[in-house]
Amino acid sequence: MEFENKDTFFKVLALLTSVITLWLEGAILYLVISRTKFLPFFVIGGILNSVFEIITNIKLLYVAIVKLKRLDNLLEVTREEIDEEELDHTCVICQHDIEFGKMLECKHVFHLK
Ligand SMILES: [Zn+2]
Repeated sequence: MEFENKDTFFKVLALLTSVITLWLEGAILYLVISRTKFLPFFVIGGILNSVFEIITNIKLLYVAIVKLKRLDNLLEVTREEIDEEELDHTCVICQHDIEFGKMLECKHVFHLK
């Protein structure tokens, strides 16, 4: 079984992990303040770190989604179409022949899978 969009999956997982971490740190902060009336600075540092981590993970996820969208919008080509245009049917990435791939604006083609 092939696992597509692995990169996006792990970025979503990282985002969820940082949100859960922030939620747990918030719960610890609430418990410590409500029971001891003491402001635990060691938890506040962790909360700030989690907030920055969430912002970073959202940025990374957004960039990955935009790149996937750009990849989806590229023209799909078959070997016959490449030959009709008299272009090189060698993948620019792996250097193997292409039967089905994507074409860049510069007319280079590459395997999608
Ligand atoms: Zn290739």
